[in-house]
Formats: sequence, C-alpha cells, structure tokens
Amino acid sequence: MNIVMMGAQGTGKGTVAGILKGELNIPHISTGDIFRKNIKEGTELGKIATKYADEGKLVPDEVTNAMVKSRINEPDCENGFILDGYPRNIAQAEELDKILEEKGTKLDLVAYLKTPTEEIIERVMARRECPKCKRVYNMVLNKPKNGEICDDCGVELTKRVDDTEEKLKTRLEIFFNETEPVIKYYKEKGIVKEEEISISINRLAPEAAKDLIDSMRK
Ligand code: ADP
Ligand code: ZN
Repeated sequence: MNIVMMGAQGTGKGTVAGILKGELNIPHISTGDIFRKNIKEGTELGKIATKYADEGKLVPDEVTNAMVKSRINEPDCENGFILDGYPRNIAQAEELDKILEEKGTKLDLVAYLKTPTEEIIERVMARRECPKCKRVYNMVLNKPKNGEICDDCGVELTKRVDDTEEKLKTRLEIFFNETEPVIKYYKEKGIVKEEEISISINRLAPEAAKDLIDSMRK
C-alpha cells in the first residue's frame, strides 16, 4: 500500500499515520520530521532547511524531492509507505508520480483529514513535544500525566519553533494556496478518502484510522 496523508497543520496526520503504520507494517515517512532531525544534527540538508522551516515556509522543491526520492527507494519501502507532509504543491505531486512510475508502482490511497480551521489553530497552539523521544502531546486533547512533563522520559516538553500564531498563519496560507490544489489533483484520479477529525463531532484520530483501514480491506 502506497499512502499519502493530506490535511492542514494539526489535523492529526502524524497520529493517524502512526496507527496505520502499526496495522500495515509499512514505514511512516514524515518530511517535517526528517527536516527537523537534520536541522538538529546540523547536516548540510539541515543547514538549508532551517532557513525555510523556521519561518514556516516550504523548503525548495529540488531539495525536498531529492530527499523523498532517496527515502522511497530504500528497501523498507518495498511493500509500501505512508507519506506525511509530501507532496505539498503540484510540482511535488508530479515528481512523486514520476518517482513511483520509475519504481513500477503508484499511489493507492490519499487520506485527506479535515478539521475546522478554528480547531486547527487551537490544536497547534496546544501542541507540545518531548525533546528527547519526540512524542507529541496536546495540552487539550492528550495531556501528559503531570504538568508539561513527558510520561516516558520525565523531561520538560517544548513547543516547536514554528508553532507560533504568526508562523502558523504562513503555514496555513501555503496549505490553502499550494496544497489544496494537490488534493484536487488526486480527487481527479479517484484515490482520495476524506475523513473528518473534529472534537465538535467527537471524532478523533483512532476513528479516522479505523475507517481508513476498513476501506483498504474492502
Ligand atoms: P506543518 O505542521 O506546517 O505541516 P511539518 O512538520 O510537516 O509542518 O514540516 C515542517 C517544515 O518542514 C515545513 O514548514 C517546511 O519548511 C518543511 N517541509 C516539510 N515538508 C515539506 C515539503 N513537502 N516541501 C517543502 N518543505 C517541507
Ligand atoms: Zn519523551
């Protein structure tokens, strides 16, 4: 199964992808996580990415495409993958088609997670991360047991540098202008499955993941 997760910031792409990974036994590839890891380790890729990522802007396509291509061609992607955070514009979507065509495969499913915008802002502002194990918490939806301390490591949680209102605004603008057209591109191919994720209707990541898995088993 070759799967792409789509949806605005904070909709739960990473959480749903984590559940799908466990069920399907295929890797979860988050381009944001790969960039953040490279930034933290100070690699050449990280030095380029930090200039864009810190401001909530997209890293240039040449850099991102090359990174994804090499990742998808690793042996653990032989039986499929779950891409999270890529493609984010039409040029990347066309590049992904090319990468997969060269491998003799194609996308099976695009999982599109939809959350009301007010909820997105609230959720991203409440997001915290363990600097040690990278576990993601949410001070509204899934709080740690004590204060802002990681349940597993006992260290203080941090906020992502791009999780400020100003930078979130930039990121959402890019989503609506550049990434939504990609969803339309996939809808025309007939491979999109939409999942509503919202506290207002009490439907969160586990339900969405279950529905996606059921749809794949049909
Ligand atoms: P977001 O919460 O805004 O979706 P991510 O964690 O997915 O953020 O990505 C963090 C940052 O990494 C982005 O703001 C961007 O700078 C970079 N990035 C991630 N994926 C891509 C991509 N497909 N194309 C360009 N830049 C990307
Ligand atoms: Zn931790």
